[in-house]
Amino acid sequence: MVTLSPGVTVSPSSSSASKYSPMSISIHGQKTMGANFNWGKLWALPLPGKILHFLWRLVTYSLPLRMKLKQRGLEVDTRCPVCFRLDEDGGHCFLKCKFVKKIWGLSQMEPIRLKLLLCTNPLCLLEEVFRLNEEECMKVCILLWLVWHQRNKANAGEKIKCPDDILSSINYHTYEYRSLKQRRMIPKQTNIQKWTPPPAAGAGNLEHVSDAFHAEALAILNALNATAKMGFNQVIFEMDSTVLKQAISSEDYDLAPLGALFQEIKFQLRIAFENVKLYVCPMSCNNAAHVLAAHEASLGDGMYEIWLGQFPELVMNSVAGDLTSRSL
Ligand SMILES: [Zn+2]
Repeated sequence: MVTLSPGVTVSPSSSSASKYSPMSISIHGQKTMGANFNWGKLWALPLPGKILHFLWRLVTYSLPLRMKLKQRGLEVDTRCPVCFRLDEDGGHCFLKCKFVKKIWGLSQMEPIRLKLLLCTNPLCLLEEVFRLNEEECMKVCILLWLVWHQRNKANAGEKIKCPDDILSSINYHTYEYRSLKQRRMIPKQTNIQKWTPPPAAGAGNLEHVSDAFHAEALAILNALNATAKMGFNQVIFEMDSTVLKQAISSEDYDLAPLGALFQEIKFQLRIAFENVKLYVCPMSCNNAAHVLAAHEASLGDGMYEIWLGQFPELVMNSVAGDLTSRSL
């Protein structure tokens, strides 16, 4: 028994391949355990909680390996329950067992196993695993977890899978968790903005407009005039321009080239309605407006149409997707 520092001891390995058996270090005292270990990196691994919990048990010496049970004073058969050849410590269970070595080889990860054999404790081992690329890191963690699962079956006297079947499981789980990570990266449905249909709609063809912004402002002016004529006194105007909303709800753009038009809109909004709400509605949320714009472009200059409740089929078709998503 070699003492490294107070509370840290290393047991000589039963293997002749290395001086010390990996993961045979026993650390007493919670303060020293993993003080410098990157725990955040462990919990950030793109793996399910059951595997992360297993890894946490591995690095905190919480797995009931037979040598550990003996160190605690229990009378146990310390032979590996899988191969019945050598004492079962962490190094044997995960890296040196004849059965486990076959799995590492079949997984094309023998060079990684040899590198991990040089680690003197499970914290060091996991840090080495973190240095691998993400795919290899995931595969190693899944391999260790599956090996422990099979070891527990053997420990309970149950039949265990053959190395080829475990290799299939490693590949399956790696694929599954990689897909899960990709799905998590897709924006959630709740972030998708949706459109709420209005009780009335109108569209027209404007004359003499200088640009799209000018057209938007004129459209609002025509819309509020038409709405006022219909007797509505509580209205909501939707537009896809934040600048237009700012221009007709503040004095910021009163001195701009279209300032007179903005002041006219603000005046009409004040005198014609009791309650006015102005919303910015992203273009992606109001496909109906764009369908109507395309429809009205085919009309003559100055022509316009208004619908109350009964919208034309081309509008209903264009909003079908929005209306369906609202009900989900
Ligand atoms: Zn064994």
